[in-house]
Amino acid sequence: MRAMQLDASSDFVVVVRPVPPLAEQRKLNSQHGFNASLSQSIPLNRDVRNKAGAECALVDYGDLSKLPDTSVVFVFCNEEQSVLYRSIHSVLNRSPPQLLREIILVDDGSSAAHLGDELDKYIATLPKVKLIRQNARTGLVEARLAGMRAAQAETVTVLDSHIEVQERWLEPLMSRMKGDETRVVIPIIDGMNAKTFKDDPGGIQLCGFLWSMVEHGIPLQHKDAAMIQSPCCDPQPSPVMAGGLFSINKNWFLNTLGGYDTGISFWGTENLEMSFRIWMCGGTLEMMPCSRVYHVFRTMGGKPYHVPGNTGVVNKLRTIYGWLGEKYAKYALSQLGPAALSTDYGDLSDVRRVQEKLQCKNFDWFMHNVYPDNVLIKSLGDAQYHGLIKAADPTSSKCLAFTRTSGASQPCKTKDTAIYSKQEFFLSKMGELRLANQLDDCIDFSSTQRRLSLNACGRYRPIASQEWIYSAGDQFLKHKSTGECLSPITGTVGKCDSSAKVEWDPIP
Ligand code: UDP
Ligand code: MN
Repeated sequence: MRAMQLDASSDFVVVVRPVPPLAEQRKLNSQHGFNASLSQSIPLNRDVRNKAGAECALVDYGDLSKLPDTSVVFVFCNEEQSVLYRSIHSVLNRSPPQLLREIILVDDGSSAAHLGDELDKYIATLPKVKLIRQNARTGLVEARLAGMRAAQAETVTVLDSHIEVQERWLEPLMSRMKGDETRVVIPIIDGMNAKTFKDDPGGIQLCGFLWSMVEHGIPLQHKDAAMIQSPCCDPQPSPVMAGGLFSINKNWFLNTLGGYDTGISFWGTENLEMSFRIWMCGGTLEMMPCSRVYHVFRTMGGKPYHVPGNTGVVNKLRTIYGWLGEKYAKYALSQLGPAALSTDYGDLSDVRRVQEKLQCKNFDWFMHNVYPDNVLIKSLGDAQYHGLIKAADPTSSKCLAFTRTSGASQPCKTKDTAIYSKQEFFLSKMGELRLANQLDDCIDFSSTQRRLSLNACGRYRPIASQEWIYSAGDQFLKHKSTGECLSPITGTVGKCDSSAKVEWDPIP
């Protein structure tokens, strides 16, 4: 393999990579979560359905030469070749030339043979496309940073390597970024099927997060619904982003915001870390509804790369300790399992320096101002009760706990450790009972199966099997629809007798 200088005017480094053994190549090539043979039969240049509504077509973005331009950065690791090529072609075909400065590919240590020489030769035939080879695989954070540093345009647009952009995808993004370096924007991500390569219903629009530290689709928040005049087309604030598709001002991100947390390796949670950083340190994150990009969501287990050992936990820990602060960290930490508490997550001094320099706001501010519809703020902020559910009988020191699959009776823990022992509960005004270390679910009692479980909560009001009432008078914690009582002594629901009497031991 030869080293090749792709663009004499820039400092791209093309590194020679070792070719992996054939068996490894074959294994990787057959494992990417996509129907590769079908993909290979689909033209690289093809029309895709435009999902933006008619109102978007009427938006006038003015003189495009007055908008910032962008360097598109694709990072990839062992991507299926035709899927990668179609991603590149869609950007070349559907971006106004004034807005697209270049496309930078960053090979994150791929071992698949089809991404070697063949790729070098192929992109040499395309306009505006450059390639950086990482010496060894680092993960998407370092790979994207390498692409961003090399970018020549004012803004950088990061895309996953298995996407197809739709008509007029770039104009809304660049138009929103004009004149304000602190605006980070994301498109609507439309689902494309990994087996058929046809568009799927659904995708990702606005995102919040679950306390297990993964992004989670949310509707437009109440605070924003009143502010937005044209839901078709106006920017919509998003607490976090899905991560694979966004545009950001290059200089502001790399030199003011400090870029990504490079302690986050391979894959995962960088999207939450970056979203918190943006909002808390002076930026905004908005979804532009007229900008739409298809993303091929892989079938389960189809990643063409391996994510080593405890990377996932370390990435989450860095995000939690970096940004959540003591008050909120415990809700996330308690979901990671006991081993996580003693896992080394490295040094956070880079994050602290940025927070100090930019006087970043704290997570309480984020929760109340950016993500007020979060369950912790919305339905639990004014919880009727919050604490341990203790047996009222003074001779018993039993508390209700919630093991992996059901309710249990356990010796009471101290207030500061109760969350880790699954003994900390919230009872909301609406009557939802939640376990503090699994806040996104509700405690459910099935009267037919006679057992407690944790299930998805009702969207607007409690589901009948999840509605509870506590009365301080008779000290019963009642399951509303059956009228039976939850007892810390049996750890389940049954007769409302004196042994079922409950006292809340409040946690402030
Ligand atoms: N990626 C990478 N190095 C890694 C992991 C991922 O370059 O170690 C790339 C991957 O090829 C893709 C992007 O990062 O372009 C996001 O990963 P992926 O699409 O697999 O994540 P998903 O969309 O499945 O969450
Ligand atoms: Mn992806």
